[in-house]
Amino acid sequence: MTETDFDVIIIGGGPAGSTAASYLAGAGLSVGVFESELFPRPHVGESLVPATTPVLLEIGAIDKIDEAGFPRKYGAAWTSAETRHMPANGFSGLNHDWSAEVQFVERGQAGVDRDYTYHVDRGKFDTILLKHAESRGAKVFTGVRVLGIDFSDPELVRANCKMGPKELDVTARMVVDASGRHTTIGKQLKLKVTDPVFNQYAVHTWFEDLDRAALARDSKEVDYIFVHFLPIKDTWVWQIPITDTITSVGVVTQKERFSLAGSDRETFFWDFVASRPELHDALKAARRVRPFKPEGDYSYSMKEICGDRFVLIGDAARFVDPIFSSGVSVALNSARLASRDIIAAFEAGEFGKERFAPYEDKIRRAVRYWYEFISIYYRLNILFTAFVQDPRYRIDVLKMLQGDVYDGEEPEALKAMREIVAAVESNPDHLWHPYLGTLRAPAATTT
Ligand SMILES: Cc1cc2nc3c(=O)[nH]c(=O)nc-3n(C[C@H](O)[C@H](O)[C@H](O)COP(=O)(O)OP(=O)(O)OC[C@H]3O[C@@H](n4cnc5c(N)ncnc54)[C@H](O)[C@@H]3O)c2cc1C
Repeated sequence: MTETDFDVIIIGGGPAGSTAASYLAGAGLSVGVFESELFPRPHVGESLVPATTPVLLEIGAIDKIDEAGFPRKYGAAWTSAETRHMPANGFSGLNHDWSAEVQFVERGQAGVDRDYTYHVDRGKFDTILLKHAESRGAKVFTGVRVLGIDFSDPELVRANCKMGPKELDVTARMVVDASGRHTTIGKQLKLKVTDPVFNQYAVHTWFEDLDRAALARDSKEVDYIFVHFLPIKDTWVWQIPITDTITSVGVVTQKERFSLAGSDRETFFWDFVASRPELHDALKAARRVRPFKPEGDYSYSMKEICGDRFVLIGDAARFVDPIFSSGVSVALNSARLASRDIIAAFEAGEFGKERFAPYEDKIRRAVRYWYEFISIYYRLNILFTAFVQDPRYRIDVLKMLQGDVYDGEEPEALKAMREIVAAVESNPDHLWHPYLGTLRAPAATTT
């Protein structure tokens, strides 16, 4: 058989790529990670969920993450400008202001040895994970962009790489695409499908000395992630602690709303947060320490997430709206699940698409839960608040918010939410009918 430079080439050294590299190099495979940027580099996606913990434990990186001093995240809180009375419709304990909070301590999770996760500066976090992969034996090449993959040889893949002005080819038995929203292989093989419903746009930055308690109901929540709803449909703001004094803040809306606003990023940001005056005042009293950065066109799926000699993981496989901080968890868990099949493929010496079918099944199922949960959230926001506050459903909603979706049956709460949404949609006289949002994602589109 023709010799290759590596067993596996990984495109991208973000959380998905470096986690896969740690698993695969740890299993004795020779792994080359090609990352186009020089690390550390900034990145959006700073709040983790507990489903990241078992993966960090398994690859042996948790101590390094613990030692980095990232703020601990014990829970999540949602605030709203809405103070109208809300019809309870059979649900107990509804707050009139639509606010809610959850703590991870309320529900134990298999493989998770603590009641918190972290908020992270992604520059630091991603560098720790990439160096960790290197310490496990992966060869990491930064500043090298993979331009495309040649699949024409039946025995190997050939990556065309660019480093400065130089181009060179690198060979391997198979390739893992972890290139994030760049979706290198998805674009090359025309696998990418734009989401039929979600087309969000975000503008974000960091502030120094923001009073994180400004909108908190309880001082214990101060270091939670906050999602502040704006009184504008489908629009919210994240508040994520990055250090003791730095806080990440981003506005997420439908792209058409940003376009309609017709303003630049900065004006858009301030105009939108002005719809929550107490949030606006707290932000104005703080100091902005990073430029405003936009993120757009980020919801899509892929017709296939594996094929002969390739697997897509993390954002390169799928991106769902970030409302529940699922991205890094999907990156790490897709790397974990894909790595199992890749290791088995090397043991068998076969790299056909069918080898990666277990990965594809599991990740599609998990992402379908996320997608439906998120869709319901946008469709009938009031339902989310009702479920969080109702003792019958709270723990099961927490399961989703912990990112605990990879094993076991469909969460019961999701089933119940789906039925209620259908009932509300079909009955114009339903007490909650006026609260239906504009986004409507049919389950059939959730591939
Ligand atoms: C507005 C917004 C808010 C978000 N908030 C959260 C959050 O709070 N929590 C959360 O968990 N997630 C969040 N996410 C999602 C999160 O950012 C991603 O899911 C996560 O970064 C995915 O990791 P990844 O390794 O797949 O991709 P990335 O982190 O994007 O890493 C991909 C890497 O590949 C490199 N690369 C790309 N193309 C090439 C190439 N051709 N050759 C070589 N290298 C290449 C890139 O430089 C990059 O370093 C958010 C996303 C958005 C858009």
